[in-house]
Amino acid sequence: MPDKILLLPDNIANQIAAGEVIQRPASAVKELLENAVDAGATEIKLIIQDAGKALIQVVDNGNGMSETDARMCFERHATSKIQTIDDLFHIRTMGFRGEALASIAAVAQVELKTKRKEDDAGTYIEVENSVVKKQEPVAVPEGTSIAMKNLFFNVPARRNFLKSNAAEMRHITDEFTRVAMAFPQIFFSLTANDQQLFHLESGSLKQRIVQLLGNNYNAKLVAVKEDTDYMNISGFVGKPEAAKKTRGDQYFFVNNRFIKSAYLNHAVSNAFQEMIAADSFPMYVLFIDLDPTQVDVNVHPTKQEIKFEDEKIIYAFVQAAVKHALAQFSVMPTLDFDLDASIQQLPSIQQPFTEKRQDAATGTSIFKGFTQKHQAHIIEPSQKSELKHWKSFYEPGVGSRESGVGSQESVISSFKSGVKEILQNENEDTLHSRLTTNDSLLTTQLHNTYILTETNNGFIIIHQQLAHERILYERLKEASDGKPVATQQSLFPVTVELTPADTAILQEISGDLQNLGYAIEAFGKNTFVIQGTPADVETGNEKLIVESLLEQYKHFSNEIKFSKREKLIRSAAWQQSIKAGKRLTEREMHSLVEDLFNCQQPNIAPNGSPVYLEFKKEQLEKMFGK
Ligand code: ADP
Ligand code: MG
Repeated sequence: MPDKILLLPDNIANQIAAGEVIQRPASAVKELLENAVDAGATEIKLIIQDAGKALIQVVDNGNGMSETDARMCFERHATSKIQTIDDLFHIRTMGFRGEALASIAAVAQVELKTKRKEDDAGTYIEVENSVVKKQEPVAVPEGTSIAMKNLFFNVPARRNFLKSNAAEMRHITDEFTRVAMAFPQIFFSLTANDQQLFHLESGSLKQRIVQLLGNNYNAKLVAVKEDTDYMNISGFVGKPEAAKKTRGDQYFFVNNRFIKSAYLNHAVSNAFQEMIAADSFPMYVLFIDLDPTQVDVNVHPTKQEIKFEDEKIIYAFVQAAVKHALAQFSVMPTLDFDLDASIQQLPSIQQPFTEKRQDAATGTSIFKGFTQKHQAHIIEPSQKSELKHWKSFYEPGVGSRESGVGSQESVISSFKSGVKEILQNENEDTLHSRLTTNDSLLTTQLHNTYILTETNNGFIIIHQQLAHERILYERLKEASDGKPVATQQSLFPVTVELTPADTAILQEISGDLQNLGYAIEAFGKNTFVIQGTPADVETGNEKLIVESLLEQYKHFSNEIKFSKREKLIRSAAWQQSIKAGKRLTEREMHSLVEDLFNCQQPNIAPNGSPVYLEFKKEQLEKMFGK
């Protein structure tokens, strides 16, 4: 028998490694933006075509690279950021593995232009499949431009795995937002398909938050700032009135690196306890800075998780700092008329924030604890453990019911609190895997219309269109409340000619349409030009999109109980929804289910129909006489 072991050629090894680092366009965006930050740039421009599938380009005015470095940077483990193993524990830069550019060069066609201040000419290099195709001097300004084209052109399996442009674009803006948030002193812009989506002048963190998350936060931010020997925390939390029904505007950065931490998230939520409704999420942008030896950023290749040397101290510190901020600024929620009734009833809102209560807040052991170094271990047990509901959803035998179909209330509350429980106790990736990629929980589609998904406790049948309408409805509602949906510029703007009646309707709703991501301009008497549609909506038939939206809107016009805006949101949710009869991939089903159960009211469609039915194991057993 001949020997069997071979060494993998470099380009294949790089392609395999790339799988870890570059999962989708957004991963490349993150790496390139971070490299530009590491290079000391004060201006960073991100240019995207086709949701990153055709082009991802980052142009910076940072240090640039020498001719040799420009060639070296595409080698695996090529980094200028660490030299000894010891450096690894003192990382202050965003990157350090030296894997990103090697990975990118393995799965895309890359063009690099770079120049240092001290060099007369810059360097141009073209790399494809890890092989340098071309290298020549070039006249360029100081800094670096890296353009990667046709991501995964040579790995069709991965390319096919990419989601719709809308979904990939959302990931890209998420990554962009995270990096831009962490470095408000740097100018950032994002241009997608030749349309500028963000133009962020350098400024204060507060300005950056407002630029990124919307003007409505302007008067609703409370500064958090505590410094100790052990760690510093700074940033902002939203006033209780800015809390939202959907998790979203929550950002944690450790040493300027965005992280996901259900544990720390819980610390903030706890500080808000009683100030906001139990099912709403506080807004926060918090920066924790501590000695790099106290964190291990090396645990996850994409570095969104970190390990703290002493998690409990950090938890108590974060909670105390937020409590302190809320108390100091005497955040007496100023009530809006449209504030949720359930919030208005909370004792902390009804009673004035007296000195006595302020003392009570600052007198807790936790609060005292955080100012004294290493004294912050005592953590108050969470008041309301929702474990009970959680169990009823995932364990048989608890909370059994008589009827064949479980009460919708119980499903929602058990699912939601279950999700919450996981979030509180485990990290978000685990939640994700449990809800979306857990193969052991079977999910399948029936008649191209129903999603059948197994729970540990039985199964549920979800109507795909109603579910999607619910998801979109909540999203659009949020959008019309202040955070406009991004518009995707049409490549070929189309004109529509309408009847005078429809023209009048369109004019009436055009302002709201804009907020929902539709860019429609009047063009002559009864003619309009559709310049763009919401970034989330598949492009290609803009005319039909607008026409069917109008149709649906008219359909609602007899419903006097709805406001103009409400009608429009309902119409748009219907128009954009995945319709019954459409075949879905496994991934689409999983993400639909996940999005649904992140909704406020997953059980009822905007039109009042139930969205899903639940069947419990014990009910099935009963039916079969077991
Ligand atoms: P890492 O960031 O982990 O060091 P990368 O593969 O991302 O690894 O980059 C490799 C090296 O290339 C970096 O260490 C840096 O020296 C250089 N480099 C990458 N991008 C830039 C840039 N935009 N400006 C200057 N140098 C860069
Ligand atoms: Mg890097």
